[in-house]
Amino acid sequence: MLAFAIALSMLLRGRKPVHWLFAAFAAEVALWYASQSLFGLFKTSIWVRVTAVLTVLLPQVAVHLFQAIVPLEHGAPPARLPRLAALLAIPMLALELSPYHDAPLALGVVYFYVIGLLAAALISLAVRGRRSASRAVRDRVRFLVVVGALATTFTLADFLSFLGVVLPPIGAVLAIVFLFVLAESLTRPRLADLYEMAGRSLVSTALAFSFAGIFYVFVTYVGRFNTMYLNGVLAAMVFLVLFEPLQTEVDRRIHQFFFRERRDLETSIADVRRRLSHVLERQEMVDVLLDGLERSRRATSCAIYLRDQEGNGFDLAGSIGRVRAGPDDGSSPLLARVPERIESLAARPLLDRLLQHASLSLEELSREGRATDVPVLTAASTLGALSGAVVLAVRGDDDDLVGIICVADDRVRDAFTPEEVKILESVAAQIGVAIANSRIYSRMKERDRLAALGAMAAGLAHEVKNPLGAIKGAAQLLDEIAAGAPVDGGAAEWIGIIIEEVNRLDRVVGSFLDYARPHAGNPVPLDVNGAVRRTVQILNSQQVEGVDVALDLAEDLPRARIDAEQFRQVLINLVQNAVQAMDGHGRVFVSTQPKRTPRSSTWTSQIAFTDKNAPSQEPEFVEVSVRDTGPGISQKVLKNLFVPFFTTKDQGTGLGLAISQSIAQTAGGSIDVHTHPGAGTTFTISLPVAVETLGTPRPVDVAPSAIDAIASRSASSP
Ligand code: ADP
Repeated sequence: MLAFAIALSMLLRGRKPVHWLFAAFAAEVALWYASQSLFGLFKTSIWVRVTAVLTVLLPQVAVHLFQAIVPLEHGAPPARLPRLAALLAIPMLALELSPYHDAPLALGVVYFYVIGLLAAALISLAVRGRRSASRAVRDRVRFLVVVGALATTFTLADFLSFLGVVLPPIGAVLAIVFLFVLAESLTRPRLADLYEMAGRSLVSTALAFSFAGIFYVFVTYVGRFNTMYLNGVLAAMVFLVLFEPLQTEVDRRIHQFFFRERRDLETSIADVRRRLSHVLERQEMVDVLLDGLERSRRATSCAIYLRDQEGNGFDLAGSIGRVRAGPDDGSSPLLARVPERIESLAARPLLDRLLQHASLSLEELSREGRATDVPVLTAASTLGALSGAVVLAVRGDDDDLVGIICVADDRVRDAFTPEEVKILESVAAQIGVAIANSRIYSRMKERDRLAALGAMAAGLAHEVKNPLGAIKGAAQLLDEIAAGAPVDGGAAEWIGIIIEEVNRLDRVVGSFLDYARPHAGNPVPLDVNGAVRRTVQILNSQQVEGVDVALDLAEDLPRARIDAEQFRQVLINLVQNAVQAMDGHGRVFVSTQPKRTPRSSTWTSQIAFTDKNAPSQEPEFVEVSVRDTGPGISQKVLKNLFVPFFTTKDQGTGLGLAISQSIAQTAGGSIDVHTHPGAGTTFTISLPVAVETLGTPRPVDVAPSAIDAIASRSASSP
């Protein structure tokens, strides 16, 4: 029954040829025992024949299965054993089906045929395993061969019953153990260590005993129904109800008893995870992790690397155990060295692999030694003393690699079982969350600091503005006096410079205050086309010759919701920037168009909201584009375009685009830039469409004089 169950479980887990062969082998073993039992029950000679045929077939299947476990290396000569076995099978079958099948000589021949072939199959498996380049395969095969040899020997002892010697059925038990071990090693990528295998068998056995106990109680004491079937059903129901909790409990207790080390790791990792959820500072997070791993006593060394801001590499954030940062200078032979930094370029294959897998056991990789892993292992050698560690990927919000944790235990080989690696992976995931949290926290702190600084600077600018007004008034007075009185020409020039510079300072301070104290103004449903037309008309009259501004306005443009004066301020900024970029030669095109989605991804949440509430085809945004045929914007300038005070102009304030962006964002929109070096630049403002309700104020337009005032304030060139 158990052998059948193992055969079935294999087919449920995989259907490769080796799985089918295994299932056939396990089924063969099952049938062999079954036919013997049936003979014991019915005493008919047919079952003797069936057993005999199965006996002949058993080593045949075993030969094929053992060959399939370690496939031949590429280019090796084909194996001869299966053919030899097939040749031997024919006379054996003939003998078993002949009338002389129970003659002692015939029994002896069949006995040696079975022993010989099983031994040959095991030896050939052992030889192949020894030749394998992979240490994992070598270990696994050695283990299998030992258990297989024991099972064969004891099973063959069962054969002695044919010769009249009766032994307890140790062979049957060992055959099942062998099938179980074989099945485990075929389905698991890594041979679990003996401890773990023993642990699993123990859990299964303990569960079997508990369930047998339940069944016994039903059959013996609750057996009033007097029907085995009903008792069976009831017992099965009790199993089903109890299975999960009982398995968990048995598992927990057995692991607590036998696998104290793993439990220590589990508890300390659980503790680390709990503490990490309250951590906001990076260094504290590193300390919590290292402290937890140290206390678990499961790692001799551990190092955590965090990605630098530019993303060019990973810097050592902390380490414990027998490692020390820095190059090996031989000063302390007990301390192995780990690098202070891992360069992304040098470790690329390792990092790429970590992007696909949550963890990598470098020891396992080097044992398996596949050609595809060579670049990864070469890259891992940059880890220095940790190149035999389990490397865990720490992922950030966007699933990118933000850190690497290396954990090693150099006291034992195969230091961490797959289950333990899973536990370590969970803590790496938590570190990823902690890093994201710490980033948000430091951004919030920085924002608060900037807000305080901004408030101070705005106060200062305000204080500067008043004396500036007084200086300008005084200078203008002097200018008027100078105009009437005969003063020397030098003085008039100085007065001119004072007024010019005061004007400039006034402009900078005014723009700064606009930026530092953003206010939504008075957002109204604005006729964007009308506003654009009027603004451009006035700008055209002011612009230098050689540049003209062309309009391409969409018809039936919905109104946008924004303060009219602020909108014009943005438009004037963009047009003036375009004109200045072209240095008097070229054209500026201003166009408007309705849009269903905003350009900037910053507003996706807003679309989702709108989509859910109004699934219509109505445009949701109005776009205004200002395109020029200027030189375009270099990458370096592009990066800083919206940074306050960034300017490439002698007389620029560097606040035009920063203010424009802040206005657009306050209105619920965005500004977007596309540039082609040598071919020009397009700035696009996206503004949300005004939802017109009964209470909405009437569309507003601003008098041309207001536009003049803004234009003169925004003009950054004299
Ligand atoms: P300012 O105009 O006072 O320099 P802005 O914030 O308006 O400040 O612009 C910042 C910088 O962006 C400008 O100095 C310029 O280098 C660049 N820039 C803006 N618009 C354009 C454009 N249309 N073409 C090329 N460069 C531009």
